[in-house]
Amino acid sequence: MKQIVKSAFLLALIIFAGCSILINKVSAADRPQVLTTFYPVYFMVQSIAGEEADVTMLLPSNQDVHSYDLSARDAVMVQESDLFVYQDDEMEIFVQELASIVDPAKTRLVESTKGLDLLEGEGGAHQEAHGGDHQHEIDPHTWLDPMLYAQQSENIMKALVEIDPDNAKKYEENYNELLENLKMLDKDYQEKLKELSNRTIVVQHGAFAYLANAYGLEQMAIAGLSSEQEPSAQQLGEMQKLLLEKNISVIYVDPALDSKIAETVASAAQVDLLPLRTIEIVTEEERKAGEDYFSIMRSNLDQLTKN
Ligand SMILES: [Zn+2]
Repeated sequence: MKQIVKSAFLLALIIFAGCSILINKVSAADRPQVLTTFYPVYFMVQSIAGEEADVTMLLPSNQDVHSYDLSARDAVMVQESDLFVYQDDEMEIFVQELASIVDPAKTRLVESTKGLDLLEGEGGAHQEAHGGDHQHEIDPHTWLDPMLYAQQSENIMKALVEIDPDNAKKYEENYNELLENLKMLDKDYQEKLKELSNRTIVVQHGAFAYLANAYGLEQMAIAGLSSEQEPSAQQLGEMQKLLLEKNISVIYVDPALDSKIAETVASAAQVDLLPLRTIEIVTEEERKAGEDYFSIMRSNLDQLTKN
């Protein structure tokens, strides 16, 4: 008897487990599985997909995308997705490896910056800010200009409509809402930065060229200084002179990145350090606390008005 009860219990467990697998399978099969690389890509895809697709971020939320290598587990995740969206071939260099292992009939790879007018990479400063294992031919940081981000969003909307035409209307609505919000953000940037008297922004990570371009500012990255190496006395002297010439009183650093060098330069030149986020890394804690692309872009704007 005891044996039978035990078997019945086991059987129930198996049936229960089977059911929950089945339920998962059904809902997963229902909704497109969309994989994104890092935060700015994730945010726009999630905004457009809404409830109609399952959107996942491949990179851990504290991972620097520039120095990322694809793991075997990642490759499987990509193969199992219906749509894989990334920023561009220059930013996520690991995508090159994917092309050969992904079945194009199953998984669509979408480069979100396709068709955008991209700036040339500023080379040294950006590369070295990331420890320098690869060089950008183009500047990948388009999302910091809301209207370029809007163009990327349009690419994503079209891709979602193609893989899931039944929900086309929903994707278009979500995209239009995102577009309106981006236009409002752009307008606020235009208005608040118009009056800025000092139009040179000094940053540690040269990620703000598109932003500077869009709002008539000039970005100056703490060039030639790698994030690992202390600047020499001569480099510090040159930097100080440049800051003085341009009447600079602020150096912007991303709190998510190492700011040791900027601290050294700032204290030598007696200028303030203020936070300016590249939005490349947004931690899970921040997301849970309600931070998103828009809230960070707005706090960036507040900081920029202090330049
Ligand atoms: Zn970057």
